[in-house]
Amino acid sequence: MFKNCGGKIKGLAILFFILTILLFIAGGILVIVLGTEYGYHRYEGYYIAGGIVLMLLGPIIAWLGTILLYGYGELVEDTEANRKANEEIRQILLSMPGTQPTEPVRPAPAQNAYDRPPERVNPMPPAPDAFAPPPEKPAQSTVWFCRFCGKKNDGAFCINCGKPRS
Ligand SMILES: [Zn+2]
Repeated sequence: MFKNCGGKIKGLAILFFILTILLFIAGGILVIVLGTEYGYHRYEGYYIAGGIVLMLLGPIIAWLGTILLYGYGELVEDTEANRKANEEIRQILLSMPGTQPTEPVRPAPAQNAYDRPPERVNPMPPAPDAFAPPPEKPAQSTVWFCRFCGKKNDGAFCINCGKPRS
């Protein structure tokens, strides 16, 4: 029932358009017939002219009255088509190898400077994090030779004489 809303709105707009034109034609005929039949004879020309103007006004009034509805229907239709196309593109992207399912489809990059968002200038470098661990020093060789006894060690103290590493 609510499928293809855009198409239905457009159909309704066209129906209103035709009905309005028919109504104005009927009104024009009525003015001419009643005017010439029951009106003053000297105004006969006015009745006929008025009836014709009314009939000619019909399409204009009908167009003005339904163009917004029709346009709205087209908008809805386009949106529905876009959504479907987007879903198809998403499915194609998901079926491609190496594509993350959570990765959103990014919009195309701006083509000119006016579309591009202003580049953000960071006036200050990021403050060093006081709680961050200090940058790691280059790994020192774990093997050392004791300067007292010449023993080869890899701990904090000499395994031979007990002197600390220095
Ligand atoms: Zn030693």
